[in-house]
Amino acid sequence: MSSAASAPRIAFDDLYARELDELCVSWQPATPPAPQLAVLNERLGAELGFDAEALRGPDGVALLTGAAVAAGSNPVAQAYAGHQFGFYAPSLGDGRALLVGELLDARGARWDLHLKGSGATPFARSGDGKAALGPMLRECLVGEAMHALGIPTSRALAVAVTGEAVARETLLPGAVLARVAASHVRVGTFQYAATRGGPELVRRLADHVIARHHPTAAEADNPYLALLDSVLAAQASLIARWMQVGFIHGVMNTDNMTISGETIDYGPCAFMDAFDPDTVFSSIDHGRRYAYGNQPAIAAWNLTRFADTLLPLLDEDYDTAVGLATELVGSFAGRYDARWREGMRAKLGLADTEPDADGLVEDLLTLLRDQRVDFTCALRALSSAVRGTGPGPRSRFDDPAAYDRWAERWQAALAREPGDAIAVADAMDARNPIYIPRNHLLEEALAAASVGDLAAFAELLHIVSDPFVARPGHERYAEPAPDTFGPYQTFCGT
Ligand code: AMP
Ligand code: MG
Repeated sequence: MSSAASAPRIAFDDLYARELDELCVSWQPATPPAPQLAVLNERLGAELGFDAEALRGPDGVALLTGAAVAAGSNPVAQAYAGHQFGFYAPSLGDGRALLVGELLDARGARWDLHLKGSGATPFARSGDGKAALGPMLRECLVGEAMHALGIPTSRALAVAVTGEAVARETLLPGAVLARVAASHVRVGTFQYAATRGGPELVRRLADHVIARHHPTAAEADNPYLALLDSVLAAQASLIARWMQVGFIHGVMNTDNMTISGETIDYGPCAFMDAFDPDTVFSSIDHGRRYAYGNQPAIAAWNLTRFADTLLPLLDEDYDTAVGLATELVGSFAGRYDARWREGMRAKLGLADTEPDADGLVEDLLTLLRDQRVDFTCALRALSSAVRGTGPGPRSRFDDPAAYDRWAERWQAALAREPGDAIAVADAMDARNPIYIPRNHLLEEALAAASVGDLAAFAELLHIVSDPFVARPGHERYAEPAPDTFGPYQTFCGT
């Protein structure tokens, strides 16, 4: 074996650990007894400067599972607090995860490499620090699907089995997920800094994330107000994108909301089939706090918690600071709404200037909800009506007459637009996915994976990684679950 194949020579940086020592604990990963790769994301590896062959070799597998720590790497468990289902937990932190280090890609962008399931840390409380294969594969697949849908997200570089069983309700194969994100700084990281360290620590954390994620804020008269503004914008855009594909995060606690504007922590998440704003899949979300339709309001609530931590930096005078923060956080709903409407108009092929656009979006969603029509299928089918090659989603409605009335109005709006129908239909197809990680397909793939057969998982991963292009012969992947499936419940994924 060449030296390139045996040693993934990557230099890790540890900027976070150096700048924010109080917000992390140096810690070593547990040694898995018999690590073996289940999934390797070669394309992502290449973007980060890894050689795929080297990652598949023994040193690569050791790096991806924590069996060995790369030279120069200073792994840390990151501290954070968080509101979980509305209740404040002052000390959460990476109980079973480690920040291995930061990588700089060819463009100079900084990425965290994190291991999840790499053993109990000082933040583990009663947890075992381990992860089961199913939930790590789930995080891998949903993250890749989100990325392919154009939605900012952490991504799996690899999933490996550890060769060890983990005890959940039954014994399950243990696994480690190696994931990459622009950073893992959360609203909960700011909450921890505020309660443990006070304004000076919050300022250092804020300076760190401004430099990393929101650099234009540094030039503003009030950089911390500009940081809040920039995070609000990033989250308004992120949540609108979730909503436009029917994604339900399931556990939008403040410790699971990033400052970078990426989606992280795929636990009980799932995609909605039939359109219904009340949809909840998570078995522990009894109050329906994190239902599909609540996500924008919950994001605003979480961002208010973020703003709370910044108050001492916004102005010397407390009342002035509260006034500034209140006004800015109050703009979230409108900003979210603008992003949502913009995206939905594009999904319906309507121009920004179309006066009936918002009404058409709203009325279509009401029809979908009333007739329990699949959100993804209905939206994707619209373009065939624009091309004149099909009836659109008509056949999916129990009462097609109601759809026909809507479609007549929609066609009238399309006719008001300049430009070519084919170009409009193509643009719609680039916005309306055919393939999302359907719950029944994902469960089927994970069940096979849990007994060692990864073929269905690999196939599903392949399909959701290219969600806008039809694959003849794969129609089953584009259809909602059969009526025999469900009611579907998801679990927190430990
Ligand atoms: P999550 O619900 O995945 O966002 O995790 C919430 C908190 O529980 C975080 O502090 C995790 O690190 C911690 N946690 C979850 N599962 C485990 C586990 N098996 N061992 C230790 N800590 C865990
Ligand atoms: Mg979490």
